Amino acid sequence: MADPFRVIAFDGDDTLWHCESIYSLAEGRLQALLEPFLRSEEVKRRLYEVEMRNLRVYGYGAKGFTLSMIETALEVTEGRITGKQVADILEIGHFVMKHPVEPLEGAREALEELARARPLALLTKGDLFDQEAKLAQSNLAELFTHVEIVSAKDAATYDRVLRRLGVAPRELVMVGNSLHSDVLPVLELGGWAIHVPYHVTWQHEVAGLPEGPHQERFAQVPSIRDVPGALKLFTQRVTPA
Ligand SMILES: [Mg+2]
Repeated sequence: MADPFRVIAFDGDDTLWHCESIYSLAEGRLQALLEPFLRSEEVKRRLYEVEMRNLRVYGYGAKGFTLSMIETALEVTEGRITGKQVADILEIGHFVMKHPVEPLEGAREALEELARARPLALLTKGDLFDQEAKLAQSNLAELFTHVEIVSAKDAATYDRVLRRLGVAPRELVMVGNSLHSDVLPVLELGGWAIHVPYHVTWQHEVAGLPEGPHQERFAQVPSIRDVPGALKLFTQRVTPA
């Protein structure tokens, strides 16, 4: 059977290695620090507001997150935060930035299996330094023939990357934990997408499941181990036996 797919692309954070769970721990620490001023749920809401406001200034990543935590603390305390407390928040940021990269269980095995048949690409968004360091620490870099670190993953970004690779959207399968960034824009372009949910999703990445004609090019699986199976299913849909 001819292989209809020329590139299998993977997201990094929460698809190949843990990420959001570390941010959740950091958020909990900020909530504890600001407890005398505001209740936890409210801190969470305010931090998210500040992050969204700053996204177009800082982009995604741990450094922008750290600055947003400081800004939130300044707002919540009406400027009464002490130098010691700023140092504590910087320490929370360092905790995120220096946290060891832990690949998701089964990620290496799934990548190894898939890499035998076709080129794999990593398509991840965020801070260049952060993402390069995570990839190096994950020990997965050798499995990718193409690595792309971008500041946002929308249809225009995918289109640009695919043009550069000389790959048509229908020849791409994207694998990721975010419906918002990894699935919907790819389906919109005419590509295929496999959603592997992570147990925590950042509010910004939450989106509804695809509907209508796109569903034929979409699959949702519980674990990265199930990606090779989903890919076989896609192949059968393109070239029925
Ligand atoms: Mg992700």
